[in-house]
Amino acid sequence: MRYYGDAVQFENEDVAYRAWIDGNAHGFVVNSCAKPSPDYLKMHRACCPSISRPDRDIWTSGQYIKTCSADRASLESWARDHVLGTCTSGCHCMGGRAGQAAVVSPIHAREEAVARQRSAVVGADPGRAPTALKTHVRDGVAAARRAQASLETRGPMPEAAVVAGVTNPLDRILLLTLCASVDRMRDSELWYHQAKALYERPSTAWLFVPDEVVGRDARAVHGALESVGALRFRDDANWWVHNATTWQTEYGGDPRSLLSDADHDGPAILRAIRRKGAGGSRRFYGLGGPKIGPMWLRFLIDVEDMPIRDMESVPIAVDVHIARATFAAGLLRGSHDGSLTRLRARIQDAWAEAATAAGTCPLSFDAALWRLSRDGCTRRPRDRSSDCPARRTCAIGSTCPKGIIDVTSKHVRVRT
Ligand code: SF4
Ligand SMILES: [Zn+2]
Repeated sequence: MRYYGDAVQFENEDVAYRAWIDGNAHGFVVNSCAKPSPDYLKMHRACCPSISRPDRDIWTSGQYIKTCSADRASLESWARDHVLGTCTSGCHCMGGRAGQAAVVSPIHAREEAVARQRSAVVGADPGRAPTALKTHVRDGVAAARRAQASLETRGPMPEAAVVAGVTNPLDRILLLTLCASVDRMRDSELWYHQAKALYERPSTAWLFVPDEVVGRDARAVHGALESVGALRFRDDANWWVHNATTWQTEYGGDPRSLLSDADHDGPAILRAIRRKGAGGSRRFYGLGGPKIGPMWLRFLIDVEDMPIRDMESVPIAVDVHIARATFAAGLLRGSHDGSLTRLRARIQDAWAEAATAAGTCPLSFDAALWRLSRDGCTRRPRDRSSDCPARRTCAIGSTCPKGIIDVTSKHVRVRT
């Protein structure tokens, strides 16, 4: 440790740094390169998750070191006297905006790289953000939290209902995994209800035992799904057989083996799912997609309480409901007229920013937002003719922006 008046600097001292953070919750931290330079001196509050997340242990022994003090002015003196620079306070923890720093700093470059990696991990659309929308992190976080608090009063999520009463852990994982794979452009509530019926019926329970699906003709799956009205797309049966066969032949019929192979790391799990097989063939259908993959991880965390790491790098899965709820929560305000596809990356980035500010991961907002839209926002008129009929009873009705929020799978028209 090096001392500069009331400031202390940590380099290659992660344990001591963590101890300082734990004992100075109201203090300040300047993140700098290992050799501090005026180009990059970023001030944070000690409680900011970007410099003190409990699940990370390398803070001062990589590219960056930390200079800390209970007194902000001491850090500004250190920056001025020892680095000949000034601290920037662009982080949300300081009440600033991410882009407020005067220069392009290494951390910004790194954040962009993380965003690019996030896109690469889940195949997100890297389309440019429409300029008429602004991100309001605090509003979005506050609304999401209120929506989360009201979640319990709205009954179990569909994915929780499908495993309710199922005691065998492997059966639960297989139900969640196989069902998620074909959960695309369908009524999820209905689908998980139908899937439960298929699981409970002795004549169709084999669907959820990969070993029993291997070698079956897809027509048998087709018939089983059709018997409960659950055939959504012609490919569903082929996907089911293909995925069950991959689970059986590569992972002994147990998706938990893949999670272990990937060391329970979220991005690594998604990469493993998306890895191609011999001759470039696809090993899994559905699960590797930008929406279903992250959604499946959320199921495993929320429903099965699985310890999956590094979820900060996994973006929220954007479907019509999440997009609609993003505007209703006021996280993005302004105007937009265009495809949902083009907006996806913008929504993911906004929730990533909100998650960083809230000290959580983007997917932690997913269930509440989905429920908010599914149970409430779908009733909002598509034009300005009248207000949302659910406003009075809605958990975020008092802050939900007025105006147009018209979101379909093809087009998004917003004026808020
Ligand atoms: S007031 Fe209506 S549109 Fe706004 S969040 Fe609530 S349900 Fe959705
Ligand atoms: Zn910060």
